[in-house]
Amino acid sequence: MKVGIVGAGMVGSSAGYALALMGIVSSVVLVDHNAELAIAQAEDIAHAVPFMSSCVVEAGDYDRLSGASVVILAAGVSQKPGETRLALLERNAAVFRDVVGNVLRVAPDAILLIASNPVDIMTQITVRLSGLPAAKVIGSGTILDTARFRSLLGRHLGISPQSVHAYVLGEHGDSEVLAWSNARAGSLSLAGFAAQVGSAITADVRARIDDGVRNAAYKIIKGKGATYYGIGAGLARIVKAIAQDQQEVLTVSMVNREIEGVADVALSIPRVIGATGIMTDLFPDLDAEERAALHRSAALLKATVEAVSL
Ligand code: ADP
Repeated sequence: MKVGIVGAGMVGSSAGYALALMGIVSSVVLVDHNAELAIAQAEDIAHAVPFMSSCVVEAGDYDRLSGASVVILAAGVSQKPGETRLALLERNAAVFRDVVGNVLRVAPDAILLIASNPVDIMTQITVRLSGLPAAKVIGSGTILDTARFRSLLGRHLGISPQSVHAYVLGEHGDSEVLAWSNARAGSLSLAGFAAQVGSAITADVRARIDDGVRNAAYKIIKGKGATYYGIGAGLARIVKAIAQDQQEVLTVSMVNREIEGVADVALSIPRVIGATGIMTDLFPDLDAEERAALHRSAALLKATVEAVSL
């Protein structure tokens, strides 16, 4: 399977690196308006391949995306320290006006996987610009927030993140919703598991985990300027679900017909991902507080996307 990546900066190249090392696709093509950067990234990633897998990694112009099954859109301007994701919007919308048309010209059947922030808004903008069905325009959404939530819960409970089932819903950003009420560890409720291992989830623990998930990106950006390894691996995980038709449940963003009374808005809920993109949406059981928070997240995103003129 061929995967294109438009935007060979930190996020795009990290996704390419993860894809190449995982050995799940046969070809990765990097495109960037900085052609020299794309070539350098492709060469650097290609040099890692012989140690791990077999995958052809190249750089090129848009024509090289012909035949790609998935194209990751990671082009744009990066988040500056202290800048909210929503403040990036206008700058990245202009980039997408250029990128989406160019991709569709050569790869009209590709599934588009959106990574640029603010990712929910960029996902909705891409649907508008492309005219593609919503299920073929997937935003990385809260895939990483969900991974952080599971990882912090697992660390507290002393089990692997893979043994925790917990989801972060809504916006990939400040208004995201940690779905505590339906989180499970092993086959148990969180409280039941915590009681058995003697690691109670107190209000303090809960607040610390919430902060660790919600503010992770800000902390990483403060320390190193950008976040990219985590999301690079998350993007590769989504591609794997498509490439291997896995029917994997992942929290990703997509334009939803309606979420908690808000129509036509992109945000994350758990969804089944397979060969044709998003196969099924799953609406989790939430308590009243979480439903209200998800409504607020949806309303905020809707107000923002309506303000964007294309
Ligand atoms: P991030 O950390 O989100 O990856 P970067 O700034 O490292 O941010 O990468 C974004 C990449 O997107 C840059 O390499 C930039 O050259 C590229 N880019 C920006 N605008 C366009 C465009 N219109 N077409 C193609 N690539 C673009």
